[in-house]
This record gives sequence, C-alpha cells and structure tokens, in this order.
Amino acid sequence: MITSEYLERSGLGGISLKVEEGQRLSREEGILLYEHPDLNAVGYLANRVRERLHGDVTYYNINQHINPTNVCDKFCKFCAFYRTAKDADAYALSFEQIQARVREKIHEPITEIHMVGGVNPELPLEYYLDMIRAVHEVRPDVHVKALTMVEVADFAQRTGRSVEAIIRDLKDAGIGSFPGGGAEVMSARLHRLLFPKKIDFHGWLDCARTAHRVGLKSNATMLYGHVETTEEKVDHLILLREAQDETFGFMTFIPLAFHPENTKLDYLKKATAMEDLRNIAVARLMLDNFPHIKAFWIMITPRVAQIALSYGADDIDGTVTTEEIVHAAGAETSQNLSRRDLVTLIREAGREPVERDTLYRPVRMQAATTAAIHLT
Ligand code: SF4
Repeated sequence: MITSEYLERSGLGGISLKVEEGQRLSREEGILLYEHPDLNAVGYLANRVRERLHGDVTYYNINQHINPTNVCDKFCKFCAFYRTAKDADAYALSFEQIQARVREKIHEPITEIHMVGGVNPELPLEYYLDMIRAVHEVRPDVHVKALTMVEVADFAQRTGRSVEAIIRDLKDAGIGSFPGGGAEVMSARLHRLLFPKKIDFHGWLDCARTAHRVGLKSNATMLYGHVETTEEKVDHLILLREAQDETFGFMTFIPLAFHPENTKLDYLKKATAMEDLRNIAVARLMLDNFPHIKAFWIMITPRVAQIALSYGADDIDGTVTTEEIVHAAGAETSQNLSRRDLVTLIREAGREPVERDTLYRPVRMQAATTAAIHLT
C-alpha cells in the first residue's frame, strides 16, 4: 500500500502535496516522475488526479478509421505506412471507395470517422474538402475527425493561403475536429533527426492554436519509445500545457508507443508495458489543464490499456474498424474491438464505461452486464 510516509521517503512527498492541492508541477518534477524507480507510486499519484476528474468513468466511442492515401513525401524515419507514388502498393482512395467504406458500416452505430493518411503531394486541398463532403453524403450525422496539422500547413504552403483560411475551408466542408498527430516529440533535435520534411513544433503549435481559435477542437499526441530523451518528453508536455492555457482547445492527450517494425529504426526494441504506463501517468500529472488522457489500445494492447485505467487514463479510444498505420509497423493487436469487448474490458478494470461522441458528450451509459471474453 502506498502511504504518504512512503511517498515522503521515496522522494515524492513534495509532488504528492502539490497533486493534492491541484498545483502545477515543474519541469524538474516531470523529470523526476519519469525517472523515479517506483512506477506504482507514480501511477498512484496519477490515479488520484484521474479519479478526482472523472471518478470511475471511462470513455470509449464507436468509430471507424479510413486512411485515404498511403502516398507521402515526408519520409519520417519512424513510419512504416508511407509509400512513394511509384510503389506497387501505393494508393489514394476515390470518393466512391471512401463512400463504399462508410456504407460497409452503415448499420453500425458509428459516431466518428477518423481519417488520416500520408501527405500526398498529388492530392490538393479540394480532394480533402470533397472527401469530407462525400462522407457526410452517406452519413450526414457522423463526426469527421480528420487530417493533422502537417497536412494543414502543407496546404497553406502549396496554395499560398493562410493556415486560418485553410482551416475555415475544412470547417465549412464539415470537418468536426483534428485528431492530433504530427508533432511527434516537440524537439528541434528530433525534428532534424527523424522528420525534417514536416513542419517543426512551432508550426504545429501555431496551426493547433489557429484551429482552436476558429472553433475546432483537437487532440495532441506524443510518439515515445524511440530515441527521445526524458527531458524532450517533459518539454513536449510543458509546450502543450502552455498552448492549452492559451486556447483550451485540446480535448485529449494520447501518448503513442513507437512500433519499430518495417521502419528505418527497426533496430530499436518496442516500448515495454512499463514505459506505456509511465508515459500515461506522467502525462496525467503534468497536463493539469487537459481534460482527458487516452490509453490507445491499438498501440499498447487492450491488456495494458486496462491497467492504464488505474495509471491516469480515462479513455481507451473506440472500436476503430480498421486501422492500417500502426499495423504496418507490426502492431499485433486486433484491427477492431466490438462495443461489447470495450465495455467488458473497462468493467473488468473496475471502471464504469460511458460511450461518448468525439466531443465527449455521453452517448449512452452501458447498462448491460457483459460476460468476460478473450481480448487480443
Ligand atoms: S508519419 Fe505521416 S507524414 Fe511521416 S512519412 Fe508517415 S505518413 Fe508521411
């Protein structure tokens, strides 16, 4: 059992007091949380914040992933998904194909369609505007969460228009929010080393702030488990926290575990469950102004996601149907879970499942008791 005496003895007494009083943690305290030998003590503190904010409630949604194209000219070293236009398995979905994917699931109670893919230099902004409209033609009420700040910045650069004008066009076409990828780890060193062709973190934050000003919410992610340092991760969290102080436009922070297979960093090992839990716990403690922390089961497996619900996470994402990007990098998880799977997973972790829409409005409280099932 973790007591206040134990926290004091183990060097976490000061942080525990600040957590109790709702005070903001410093950079040095963030580093200490990453490096402290007792992950359970760090998780205990994160769980206190999680339960203060959400009690036992754990959010999930019924969603569908569509990756419109795998062609990309950014060549990030950690990416197994991208292809060049000359590759035999390169693709860009037509609107008919996108609509067919949406129709395939039309009888499922999907509330969100998540659309991300490569930054395809052949596809103009109009393709994406039409893509969003094409989805809504088939499913008028669905929330389209699509594109990253990388594509937004790319459209602005290619067209010579402002980021704000691009975002307004996307909003007018029916985009509902942005999923939050593309910043990876906000570090000039890592940008140079791993993804120099994408916008840097200054550009990413500017785009996110603009989206929030225009009235669109977004999430934010962090890719961990490659060559980043502890300090870089803590700085990433602090940059997000500062941006959130300005706009309050971020809904959820999602730590993303790096999957090395089929990437240029395939000599690295996959992040361990301990690292997964540590990143979730530290994020919950540092991001005092983020409403939600997500344990993305696709990345960390349903089993670890279950444990993460006691290490700071209050959301496990959704049914997903059908994820391609992480699976290109060797993810061994299933490509989708049913609502029943998710509810069981949350209940087994001792939490209360609440189906949400993308903006965290409850869709239903799950009343039915479900039998234990095997999860991948
Ligand atoms: S991570 Fe995104 S931007 Fe980078 S190469 Fe892959 S698809 Fe392209």
